[in-house]
Amino acid sequence: MKQLLVLSGKGGTGKTTIASSFIKLANSKQFADCDVEAPNLHLMYKKGEMNSKSYFGLAKAIINQELCIECGLCKDHCRFNAISDQNGYHINPYKCEGCGVCGLVCPAGAIQYEKKVDGSIDLYQNNYRFSTGSLKMGSGNSGLLVTEVKKQLNNHEDNLTIIDGPPGIGCPVIASMSGVDFILVVTEPSMSGFSDMKRMIETIKKMRIKMAVCINKYDINRNLSKKIKQYLFEERISYVGELPYDDKVNDLINQGISLVESNNPVGKGIIKIYDKVKILL
Ligand code: SF4
Ligand code: SF4
Repeated sequence: MKQLLVLSGKGGTGKTTIASSFIKLANSKQFADCDVEAPNLHLMYKKGEMNSKSYFGLAKAIINQELCIECGLCKDHCRFNAISDQNGYHINPYKCEGCGVCGLVCPAGAIQYEKKVDGSIDLYQNNYRFSTGSLKMGSGNSGLLVTEVKKQLNNHEDNLTIIDGPPGIGCPVIASMSGVDFILVVTEPSMSGFSDMKRMIETIKKMRIKMAVCINKYDINRNLSKKIKQYLFEERISYVGELPYDDKVNDLINQGISLVESNNPVGKGIIKIYDKVKILL
């Protein structure tokens, strides 16, 4: 089984559009949506039996007010500023990272740790296996949830497995890279897109994973597209093609029409990119 991960340094670059088109082109029997903070692949592939289980992130600290002697040591030692001393000592669950330091320094044994449901891990099974997950707003540790989503993938699948990765270059992105054979980076010709792509490439190089880059909406800034291609050439990174900007793309997607089965130029461009990626895989 080979795993192909589609990433972009930032959101809104067309990563999911390309990943979902690749799933269609490869007739993939197994795929995953690791964008757990804003999953949307299920809008296209929400079919078949769905099994959902609760996702518990790291345990968060809570203070037992009856035991607390208000010494303030926990607040002094919390690196995440999660403890306030207004009307007694309290822990803000949105700031607590569950590091456990407060419990170690508390002389009164007043600190306990509790796990709570931070999201869900979902698996759709039809004539394909689709793993996804969703993180509750305000919950942290999305990297752990990404790992859980990937654990649901079956390693014996012969067909190409396609993974829609999270945006950015943080912990969830690193988690999504584990075990993949190839990464397709989707970028766009904007200053932030260019800069995020460079950071992404540096991270992938450190992980020693094969990669290629494509440019979406290349014609919104042809000069910058040229600079991106020059950069890729100098860095010896495979460039697998470009897609034009087309305001009809969203209409087609909203109507449930597959881009690669339409006569749309973006769909045609995605087919060419897919063919090149298949050769590089
Ligand atoms: S567990 Fe860590 S982050 Fe949470 S309140 Fe205690 S010291 Fe702060
Ligand atoms: S260290 Fe323990 S006793 Fe001291 S303020 Fe914090 S919870 Fe209360």
